[in-house]
Amino acid sequence: MPKAAFPSGLTIVRDLCNAFGPSGYEDDVRAYISGLIAPLVNDLRVDSTGNLIAMRKGRSSKKLMLDAHTDEVGIMVRYIDEHGFLRFAKIGGWDDRVFAGHRVKLRSQNDRFYHGVIGMAPPHVLTDEQKGKAVKAEDYFIDIGAASAEEAAERGAAVGDAGVLDYPFAEMSAQHYVGKALDDRVGCALLILLLKAMAEGKLRTPLTVYANFATSEELGLRGARVAAFGIDPDVAIAVEGTIGSDFPGVAADRCPCSQRKGPVISIADNTIMVPRRMADFMIECAEQAKVAYQIKMPTYGGTDAGAIHLSRAGVLTGVVAVPCRYIHAPNGTLFRPDFEDTLKLLGQVMKRVHTLLE
Ligand SMILES: [Zn+2]
Repeated sequence: MPKAAFPSGLTIVRDLCNAFGPSGYEDDVRAYISGLIAPLVNDLRVDSTGNLIAMRKGRSSKKLMLDAHTDEVGIMVRYIDEHGFLRFAKIGGWDDRVFAGHRVKLRSQNDRFYHGVIGMAPPHVLTDEQKGKAVKAEDYFIDIGAASAEEAAERGAAVGDAGVLDYPFAEMSAQHYVGKALDDRVGCALLILLLKAMAEGKLRTPLTVYANFATSEELGLRGARVAAFGIDPDVAIAVEGTIGSDFPGVAADRCPCSQRKGPVISIADNTIMVPRRMADFMIECAEQAKVAYQIKMPTYGGTDAGAIHLSRAGVLTGVVAVPCRYIHAPNGTLFRPDFEDTLKLLGQVMKRVHTLLE
């Protein structure tokens, strides 16, 4: 039988975005990544928290840790009422205004998916006071078409079920895509492509490389914290999908980065002051790779780098990201050249990052 061709970068992004993976429930994402990278690495394991850690042995015993998080923001059923409506808690950072009217996909305790909608009253029945008012997350409800708690249970619904706002990945133009969970499935896709390039001999580093596909970043960098302790790296790079905010309503002095301007290099965010020599090294690599790049406006957001650089006695850590619009919402957008240029930049970083340790 002919060997199935390795999927294209864009197919990997699509499949990863469509996969179900709120924090702590990233099993499907992990399984997809494992299937692709198992032949490309010397060792592959899952730790107790749910990190998927791949290792490629290098000439040197010095260790480079790459990190991208597998989880996405989601919801969890916290209460089921007598009329069969579900109430939910937030998993990760959501703006409460986002939820109204969206379709959700939830996973039952026996691993079956069931569907619902976050209900909202139409204008016809709203009182004047209710109209135009923001609703708090705890006041929303999910309608799964059940008329009682018993019916909801028959459907598979139970307290503790995790879910996502569910929309399929789609093409908007030949270069623009829309989908959920671009934060940080774009990062996962980039790590997969780097491992593939290394396995094919197209990308070389003397360092031993650990690729950590991290759990629960959205809950406070939890997976990366323990993975970094276990790996004990000499240098680390966090790869993210970040806050592209070049759209109406965001002032230029509050826009952390923009789409169509290439990979985003961090100098400082809410979780790390990137050592200047690491930031300068990234900028140099972008110039050598001849790709457009941008500096992320300090100090918006945070990444797994925040946990990794504080591990043990400290780790020299940098952050590179793809600018994605509308993260932490049901649909984000991606400009393909931003993704491709981030891959080129990371290739150059990997070729030279050992020089920072000499
Ligand atoms: Zn992220």
